[in-house]
Amino acid sequence: MAIEERNESVRTGGISVETQHIFPIIKKWLYSEKEIFLRELVSNACDAITKLKRLISLGHVRDIEDKFRIDVLLDKDARTITVSDNGIGMTAEELEKYICQIALSGAVEFIRQYEGKEGENASGIIGHFGLGFYSAFMVADTVEIITKSYTDAPAVRWECNSEGEYRFYPSDRTERGTTVILHIVEDESEFLSEYKIRDILDKYCAFMPVEIYFTDVSKKEDTKDQKDGEKKDDEPEKPINDTNPLWLKNPSDCTEEEYKEFYRKVFRDFREPLFYIHINADYPLNFRGIIYFPQLRNEYENLEGQIKLYYNQVFVADNIKEVIPEYMLMLRGVVDCPELPLNVSRSYLQNDAYVKKISAHIVKKVADKLNSLFTTERERYEKLWNDIKLFVEYACIRDKKFLERVKDNLLLPLTDGTFKSMSEYLSDAKEKHPNTIYYATSKTEQAQYISMYNSEGIEVALLDKVLDTSYIQTLEDEKWDGHTIRFVRVDADIAKALKGDGEEYKSEALEKLFKKVSGKDDLKVTFEVLKSDVPAIINLSEQSRRFGDMMKLYSMSSGEQFDVFEEDITLVLNSKSQAIRKLGELAEAAGENFSEEQMTYAKRIYMLALMAQRRLTPDELREFLEDSYKQIEKSLA
Ligand code: ADP
Repeated sequence: MAIEERNESVRTGGISVETQHIFPIIKKWLYSEKEIFLRELVSNACDAITKLKRLISLGHVRDIEDKFRIDVLLDKDARTITVSDNGIGMTAEELEKYICQIALSGAVEFIRQYEGKEGENASGIIGHFGLGFYSAFMVADTVEIITKSYTDAPAVRWECNSEGEYRFYPSDRTERGTTVILHIVEDESEFLSEYKIRDILDKYCAFMPVEIYFTDVSKKEDTKDQKDGEKKDDEPEKPINDTNPLWLKNPSDCTEEEYKEFYRKVFRDFREPLFYIHINADYPLNFRGIIYFPQLRNEYENLEGQIKLYYNQVFVADNIKEVIPEYMLMLRGVVDCPELPLNVSRSYLQNDAYVKKISAHIVKKVADKLNSLFTTERERYEKLWNDIKLFVEYACIRDKKFLERVKDNLLLPLTDGTFKSMSEYLSDAKEKHPNTIYYATSKTEQAQYISMYNSEGIEVALLDKVLDTSYIQTLEDEKWDGHTIRFVRVDADIAKALKGDGEEYKSEALEKLFKKVSGKDDLKVTFEVLKSDVPAIINLSEQSRRFGDMMKLYSMSSGEQFDVFEEDITLVLNSKSQAIRKLGELAEAAGENFSEEQMTYAKRIYMLALMAQRRLTPDELREFLEDSYKQIEKSLA
């Protein structure tokens, strides 16, 4: 396009005293996210085209057949970045009004509001909610606008320097639209890179509603010079963006493959998402989005989530806590909120009713999805459970509303590898152990107990993750069908869960014998009639064990060392066991003078009971091995 200056009719102007420091302030505050200047200019171009389209659709403008487009040009030699559009354009008066007065005073107002708040993450605030046109001065010392309105008004060229002085020049531009030319300052030369610009466009403009073309002018000239005739330039031009992103489409028009493809493209993750939720909220919320459950490799890989927030297809930010609850941040997805008041501060966002509703709606949709998977795709839901369990548990712990929505369909993994939902488990337990869920924290260490419960027809849940401790607590704080429920580990309720019938047996001498061999004078010993005929078993109080677990967790995270927590164990001797009765008789006969043989047997029973309950300490193990070998030697001698 031909741009000519006719100096005889130059009009000049300048910013008012009040606004004199605007450029240095913009530069200072926006330091960390300078790149948003491009987003601001390209979205202005987009708006200009949208406005023109609206005029056309209203019938105010006719005879426009152009293909609407935005061009971003990089010219390293001239040190310029240019953004052009064939949108509505501006007359000289409009430029004066919108750019020199309104936009400038808007920028000034914005800065005044945040002045002195640099400490409280000012770059976050401003970076996310940009300053519009004037953000160009973060990277440029001179900015030109050449624009021709869609009306008959003549074109105009405007030039503004970093002191805020501007001049108007006539221009003989004939095509409708606006071209903004940034003359990049020395310090910001990094923006004169093709990769850098492509990267920024990809981040912020990938889904803008107007086709955007990027050209590295310097490169084009290079290829022309060197490879003349290779016809490289005839390749069809491809816009850098997708003007009709998937989230805007009707969910019923989207295919599974499209969702996966979109996920791969946006999140650059080649593992398939576990499932997705397409949110299409109309009035009054009016926002759209797609939320994906990513595949996590392990328990700890949960920091990679990414919820990208868009404002009318313009990328705004990743992971804004105010819009997505913090416990959902491990999910991935896009959310486009055209009504989000983006020009306000974060503290406003936190208190904004609309934002709260969006957040609540997303939570509801996620819960609905889980419930619908449960009812319509049970098998798949179970297969997915291990992958989503961590997320679901965390969400339940953090948000009572979420918990209330999904509680009946929360799955309990059982020790036999199958699943039951909470409501199924509780209803099956009604007869034998109402409102009690038996669980194990280790399938191997607690194998003996598990098999004893199973043989009584009691199902045992496997809750073996770090988070499960708090999860259990959360579920216990909830009412289930009007009842309070208890989680009881398999080794904490022996007498009750495994109670059999038959004659009771008690022996004080035997109690003494076990105290003696255990080395603990205060060892609790009880006699019970159990269903199985195991001689002895350890019962460990649920409460004190949980307390111990918490202390362990605490010392792990705080680095503080606590003395090993003395566990509140009881040695349960089974009246049904012949071995116990026999040993009891011998102990009674011996008075306090237990024979070596009685001691050996009692010790062995005690150690075996311990081993069935937990791993032996190194000292206990060493002693156990020594004793066992000694006994073998003796028997063979
Ligand atoms: P905002 O876009 O938030 O209104 P800006 O500072 O970015 O603020 O722009 C101020 C105004 O200048 C816009 O509202 C618009 O009227 C006008 N403007 C900016 N860029 C263009 C453009 N490319 N074409 C037409 N008008 C524009």
